[in-house]
Amino acid sequence: MSTTTNDETPTFIEPRWHCGSCGYGMDAASPMMHANRPKEGDASMCIKCGTMHTRHDDKWVLMTPDELEEFDDETRALITRMQAMRKLVVNGRG
Ligand SMILES: [Zn+2]
Repeated sequence: MSTTTNDETPTFIEPRWHCGSCGYGMDAASPMMHANRPKEGDASMCIKCGTMHTRHDDKWVLMTPDELEEFDDETRALITRMQAMRKLVVNGRG
């Protein structure tokens, strides 16, 4: 099941899961690099705290430091920008 918020950014409704770091509950994923349902090995960021997770067995699990090290410079820069944007959105909500 998916809900499309606009033509370019689908949001996929998922079984509720909790951030492995802050415990925040989430039930949707919005891909940044493609418009497909999340698959094994994809990366996701907690909207509440910015911690990175990876897709494993159809679940989001906390990334290990080794997994974070495996990103190339371009992806690492993208993650840093996303974390900065996330911070602005969360802080903007008061
Ligand atoms: Zn979190």
